[in-house]
Amino acid sequence: MAASLRIYQVAVPAPLHGFFDYLALPHTPSILPGARVRVPFGKREMVGVVLGETDKSALALNRLKQVLQVLDHEPVLPANLLQLLVWIAEYYHHPIGEVVHAALPTLLRQGRAAEAGVAVWSLTPTGCAVEATDLSRAPAQKHLLEALSAAPEGLDAEQLAQVSARWSATLKALHTKGWVSAHTRDCLQAAKAAQSEPPELNPAQRLAVEAILSGLGGFRAYLLHGVTGSGKTEVYLAAIDKVLAQGRQALILVPEIGLTPQGISRFQQRFRVPIAVLHSGLSDAERLCAWLMARDGKAPIVLGTRSAVLAPIKDLGLIVVDEEHDGSYKQQDGLRYSARDVAVMRASREKIPIVLGSATPSLESLKNARDGAYTLLDLPDRTGSAVMPQVRLLDMRRLKPSEGLSLPLREAITARLEKGEQSLLFLNRRGFAPVWMCYDCGWLAPCRRCDAQLTLHQRRQKLICHHCGSEQEIVKTCPTCQSANLHPIGEGTERVEGALQKFFPKARIERIDRDSTRGKGMLEEKLRRVHDGEADILIGTQMLSKGHDFPNVTLVGILNADQGLYGVDFRSGERLFQTILQVSGRAGRADKPGQVLIQTWH
Ligand code: ADP
Ligand code: ZN
Ligand code: ZN
Repeated sequence: MAASLRIYQVAVPAPLHGFFDYLALPHTPSILPGARVRVPFGKREMVGVVLGETDKSALALNRLKQVLQVLDHEPVLPANLLQLLVWIAEYYHHPIGEVVHAALPTLLRQGRAAEAGVAVWSLTPTGCAVEATDLSRAPAQKHLLEALSAAPEGLDAEQLAQVSARWSATLKALHTKGWVSAHTRDCLQAAKAAQSEPPELNPAQRLAVEAILSGLGGFRAYLLHGVTGSGKTEVYLAAIDKVLAQGRQALILVPEIGLTPQGISRFQQRFRVPIAVLHSGLSDAERLCAWLMARDGKAPIVLGTRSAVLAPIKDLGLIVVDEEHDGSYKQQDGLRYSARDVAVMRASREKIPIVLGSATPSLESLKNARDGAYTLLDLPDRTGSAVMPQVRLLDMRRLKPSEGLSLPLREAITARLEKGEQSLLFLNRRGFAPVWMCYDCGWLAPCRRCDAQLTLHQRRQKLICHHCGSEQEIVKTCPTCQSANLHPIGEGTERVEGALQKFFPKARIERIDRDSTRGKGMLEEKLRRVHDGEADILIGTQMLSKGHDFPNVTLVGILNADQGLYGVDFRSGERLFQTILQVSGRAGRADKPGQVLIQTWH
C-alpha cells in the first residue's frame, strides 16, 4: 500500500478567504500546525503558516503544488493562539492568511529565524577616546562614530541604516580599528532597582481585587468603573501580583497614547520581573524579541497597545484592558478588529478573568454589566482626599463670545492667573479656523481631493484638509465671484492661542495639538513646562485628555462642546461625554479642587 497522502492546509498572506492546500515534501517529517513554510503562490513564493494536515483536497492531486521549505521545526504560533486567529478570521470576515500575517512580527513574516536577541554595536573604550575631529578625512566614519557616541546603549542594524545607507562597510572599518564591538541587546524592560511598596487598598479597591481573584482559574469579565485617580491601576497591580505569584503571565493592554515611560515604570517599580513591551514604535528586531519572550514565558508581564492582544503568551492568567472605551483599540483598516473584544474572547477561550477598566466605559460595556454578562466593580471616590471638580454650563445663547471665549470664562482665567494657578482650555479642532469663506457669495474653500472643507492654518499660511491631508496656498480671491472679501469662520486652537495672547498679554500660554508637537520631544518638553509651573494657560485638543495629569490646573474650559453633538458617527454623543469627563478628570487636587466650565449653545 502506498504511503498515505500528506496535504498541508496553509494560511497564505493573500486577500483570499480560506487556506490553500500543498503537498508535503517526500520523506520529510510531519509539519506541525503553527509552523511556517515557504510555498509557491502564483508566480511568487510566500511565507505561510500551516493550519492543519489532511489526506484529501478539493483540488485534483495533479494541481497541488509542493511545500518548498519548512522554516520551523517547532511551531512559531502556539495552538491556542492559532485557534484564536481562526476565530478572528471568521468573526471579522477577514482572510485567515492575512490575520495570521498580522499576528506575526515582521521578521517572521519575512521568513527569518525565530530567535530572540538584537545585535547591537557600540563604541569600545578606545572608540570613545577617539576625537571625531581627527576623522575629518573619513567623513563617513566620523558620522557613524558620532552617532554611536550619542547612543551609549548601542545601535542595531535598523538604527544604523538610518544613520547611513552604507553603514555596514563603515562599521567594518571601525571594527577593524578596534573602535566598536558587537553584543546582544535584551529586549525586556528590566525591573527597576527602587521597588515601590503597594499602598494599603481602600475598601472599594479591596472588594474589587477580591472579586477578581475569586475568579482566577475561570472566565469572568469585570468592568472596573472609576474616575481617573480612583485607584484602578492599583487594583490591576494587586490582581497581577497574585497571578505572577501563581507563576502565570499577565497581559495588559493600554491605549496608544497611554504607553508612556512613566506608565511602564509603574510596573517596573512594583514587580521584580522582566516586562515585554509591545507597541508600534519598536524596531523589527525588538518586536520579535519581545514577542518571543512573551511566547516562551520569559516575560511574566506583557504590556502593549492594540496588537499585543494577538501576541502569543505561554501561560496567560489574567488580561487587563485599561481605558477600555478608547478608540485606539479598534483597528480601522486592513484587518478591522476591536482589541478589547478580542481580549474578552481570548479570556473566555483561555478560561481566565479579564478586567476592563475605565472612567467612562463604552455603552456596550455598561450594557453588558447591567445585563450581568460582566461583573461591575465600582471605585466611587478619588483616592486620598482629591475631589471631583464642579461642573457648570455656560449658556452661549446669552453670552457673546469673543474669538471663542465667553466673558465668564475669561474672568475665571483671570482669577486663576491672579492666584498663580493654571487653566486648561479644550478645543477639539486644530488650526486657525475650520472654514475659509467668501462673505459676498458664500463660497467655502473645498478640498480638491475629497469632500471636506479646508482648515485655515495661519502660521503655516496654508489651507489644509484634515480628512485627507492635502494642502494648498490660501486663496485670496473667491473663485466664483472674484471678491477679495474672504474670511475665516469659527475657531481652532491656533486662533484661540492668539486671542489668549491678546486678552492675557502677561500669561505664559502653551498650545498642545498635533501641529505644535510635531517635532521629536516637543510634547514632552511642553508637558514638562506645564508640570514645572512654567505655563499659565494650556490650550489644546484631545491630546490633553489622555494620560497626563495636571495637578496645578484648577480650571478646565470646554470651548466648543456642541461640535461633538453634530458628528455623523452614531457614537458622537458618547464620545463627547467621555472626552469632557476625561479632560475634567485631569484637573485639580485635594487642596485645590477644580472647576469645569462648558460653553454650549444647547
Ligand atoms: P487610576 O488608575 O484610576 O487613575 P491610580 O491607581 O493611578 O488611579 O491611583 C491614583 C493615585 O493614587 C496613584 O498615585 C496611586 O498610587 C494612588 N493610590 C491608589 N490607590 C491608593 C490607596 N489605596 N492608598 C494610597 N494611594 C493610592
Ligand atoms: Zn465669492
Ligand atoms: Zn481632503
